[in-house]
Amino acid sequence: MDILLIILLNAGLAIIPATIARNKGYKPFWFWAFGFMVSFLIALIWVLLMKPGWQKKCPHCCEMIKPDAKVCRYCGRNISAGVGASDI
Ligand SMILES: [Zn+2]
Repeated sequence: MDILLIILLNAGLAIIPATIARNKGYKPFWFWAFGFMVSFLIALIWVLLMKPGWQKKCPHCCEMIKPDAKVCRYCGRNISAGVGASDI
């Protein structure tokens, strides 16, 4: 097998963990780089084990925002911190 083909295949496969990382609110580049340089399989297992963190989804516009945000930076609407807890 040609070495260039293996490199291209690895770069292509590394997009899978990168895409999952992006959906979970993490920066996809690092997972792509890890998958490309180390192993796409390890990057995939790693990203699957990770909890969705760092960011949460805005209930109004569905964009990813910081978990501590009170106002969405995309649509500008208020986000109640924790359902129920803020109503007391
Ligand atoms: Zn929003």
